[in-house]
Amino acid sequence: MEELTTDILVIGSGLAGLLSALEAEKAGLRVLMVGKFTIGMGTNTSLANGVFTATNSSFSKEDHLQATLKSGKGLNQVRLVKTLVEKGPEALKRLRDYGIPILERGMGYIVDRPENSSQLPGILLIKPLVERLKNSSIKVLPGLVIFDLVEEEGEVRGTFGFSKDGKPCLIQSRAVVLATGGAGAIYRRNDNQRSILGDGYALALRAGLSLFDLEFVQFYPFVLGEPRLSSFLLYPPYPKEVRMFNEKGEDLLERFHLRGDLNQAIIVQRDQLSIALYNDTQSGDAFFDLTQVPQEKWEHYPLNFLKKSKFPFRERPFLVSPAVHFFMGGMEIDEKGGTSLPGLFAAGEVTWGIHGANRLGGNALTECAVFGVMGGQSAAEYVREKERSQGTPNLFSESFMKKWDRKVRTYLRKRRGTFDHPRDLLKDLKDLAWRYASPVREERLLKEGLDRLASIEKRIEKVYPATLKDLFKKRDLENVALLLKAILKGSLLRTESRGSFFREDFQNQDDTNWLKNTCYRLEKGELEITHRPCTRR
Ligand SMILES: Cc1cc2nc3c(=O)[nH]c(=O)nc-3n(C[C@H](O)[C@H](O)[C@H](O)COP(=O)(O)OP(=O)(O)OC[C@H]3O[C@@H](n4cnc5c(N)ncnc54)[C@H](O)[C@@H]3O)c2cc1C
Repeated sequence: MEELTTDILVIGSGLAGLLSALEAEKAGLRVLMVGKFTIGMGTNTSLANGVFTATNSSFSKEDHLQATLKSGKGLNQVRLVKTLVEKGPEALKRLRDYGIPILERGMGYIVDRPENSSQLPGILLIKPLVERLKNSSIKVLPGLVIFDLVEEEGEVRGTFGFSKDGKPCLIQSRAVVLATGGAGAIYRRNDNQRSILGDGYALALRAGLSLFDLEFVQFYPFVLGEPRLSSFLLYPPYPKEVRMFNEKGEDLLERFHLRGDLNQAIIVQRDQLSIALYNDTQSGDAFFDLTQVPQEKWEHYPLNFLKKSKFPFRERPFLVSPAVHFFMGGMEIDEKGGTSLPGLFAAGEVTWGIHGANRLGGNALTECAVFGVMGGQSAAEYVREKERSQGTPNLFSESFMKKWDRKVRTYLRKRRGTFDHPRDLLKDLKDLAWRYASPVREERLLKEGLDRLASIEKRIEKVYPATLKDLFKKRDLENVALLLKAILKGSLLRTESRGSFFREDFQNQDDTNWLKNTCYRLEKGELEITHRPCTRR
């Protein structure tokens, strides 16, 4: 087994992870960054539309606070929202200082794209940070997949994972920043990167931490639904000539009352739009039609991006569908990015609290910017404080190493069992998620989903890692099944509708009984779900 030692380990190389690592390095500490792929790639950040909601010259702090709380419908952690609002402008300035082209626009800022460029804004966002990282002392280990957080004597001591070539790797680290993003790809229809499968949530649960509000999943109303194209998010601004209709030829923009303001509706009404379109697409297909858009508009983003595809977007209508976009739930953090496990910090989509029952468009990137910086700074302060009080002892004892050697063997043990291909099982799980934990949920379907999940879980237990690929796939299956069980069970208990969460059988928001956050925890391997009243602070 390979052993590595660092002061601060950052897991994830999206916006939150990159900023954490760069900040931690400023404290003169050894920083190691790992991600599933090349640094910056395979991240949802690289796909982002580059919209940041934050205070600017025409959008006040109070505006930002109220808009975020309105969208969250009472479930936000107000203390975190206040931090986001207070520190947003400063974090945006820091991004500019890193060389990211950012312009003031609407309710905040956007990544400025050169005229007629069809490059994704997320790439423009991430590039300068990756360049900065390359010129720093930060060590990077791309292609290392973390399987476990290592915890000893009530504090985090590092992590365990496998490199892509199958080498087990134990990393000693005085502090760890978890920036593993969300879990959108556990659903059949999603606009996330394929590898965003909720690893961070599973890591946290298995380390004994609580997660919150996992049942709140944000859907984006319009992604490409054409079977041979990836589920690419159809970015606004949409030109006014866009039309949308169903199989019967009915005008859906009329039906959803969106004629005037489709672009604004995408920011503030994503949940209702997704539900309406999901319902509509249960009995037939829905289409976007760009054939009326004049030639000159195809030279501008995002149409110039679509134009690059072989699909004849200019000549014929194409299928669209709602898809999973973002996870509101996740790990609890304090205002400085600390978690309940000493030494463990978290930032970005893996965390919970700011968005409540639904995220206001543009707040995810601002969250990554604010809490990414803070996660790195807090981890560095923690390590410095530890050094002052305890020096720099070896974190891994001999007996501890033996324990981990045994654990590695259990991961690699080949067991006999009926053979199910992990790829097929992952597809089954994703289908199950889309069918039973969809934008529209109800008791009968949620119970049926749980029954079906139980039978898939039995098949997952019997998957043995015949190849290296299977080893990674099996971990994915275990993580996805765990997360899905949480979402289905949590959804069954919440007998109301709120924000992005919609129960067909309980369609009203119930503030008398449900101004509560849902708490998920693993107790002796079993998922326990409780509720706690929301705090208004
Ligand atoms: C298409 C699209 C457009 C969007 N547009 C916007 C927008 O304009 N504005 C906005 O506010 N929000 C937007 N969002 C949401 C926002 O982009 C994301 O919430 C945000 O980028 C998440 O950043 P992150 O750093 O938390 O995680 P990510 O950028 O997703 O990075 C996660 C990292 O963790 C790594 N990782 C995960 N598990 C492991 C593991 N087990 N071991 C090692 N590494 C691991 C991954 O490899 C990756 O490097 C958009 C999202 C999508 C999908």
